[in-house]
Amino acid sequence: MVFARRNGADVNEPVRIEPPLVRLWRPVFPPGTLRSIILHWTAGDYVTTFPAYHFCLTGSSEVHVHTTADLQANMRDVTKVPEPPYVAHTAGRNSYAAGIAVCAMRGATPQNFGDAPLTAEQIEALCVVAAAVARYYDIAIGRIRTHAEAALADNYFGAGSADLRWDLARLEPASGALSPEEVTVAGDVLRARIAELS
Ligand SMILES: [Zn+2]
Repeated sequence: MVFARRNGADVNEPVRIEPPLVRLWRPVFPPGTLRSIILHWTAGDYVTTFPAYHFCLTGSSEVHVHTTADLQANMRDVTKVPEPPYVAHTAGRNSYAAGIAVCAMRGATPQNFGDAPLTAEQIEALCVVAAAVARYYDIAIGRIRTHAEAALADNYFGAGSADLRWDLARLEPASGALSPEEVTVAGDVLRARIAELS
């Protein structure tokens, strides 16, 4: 990074705001209407965040919350005015919808979660952040879904292809093939915990 210098002083010193640990996170949400939340993983490493979600959660044990996009961008019917900016986190389901992602699951398969596997601490952090968003915007627990559930409903569920999605279909690796039934089971586990936290 290059700083402009004038009389020896840094005049363009960036303001650095460290993303807070999830337990210290005190969000200030923008006013408006949100009706649903979709839960994701990034399919990346534990540190890289993406503006394709409103919140990204980094770290595998000490989890930090990054605000990566403005919730207000999705507080509208994006199908009527599809021009950006809005956060396109879930095909066809971005209107009035928040997207929250854990940073994990690079190269993962349903049988082997790879070198950045989803952790229990990340799952808990995801539920904490979702509960806070749901509480503030009065979103019913049943309006919170995993991307896998959305993909299943919209016929692009699965692993092994860039066109398929299985975010949070399985919360730990297992030997069998992915099944539609376990998608709902995993979603129910997350919703139950979010409800406890709400
Ligand atoms: Zn996703």
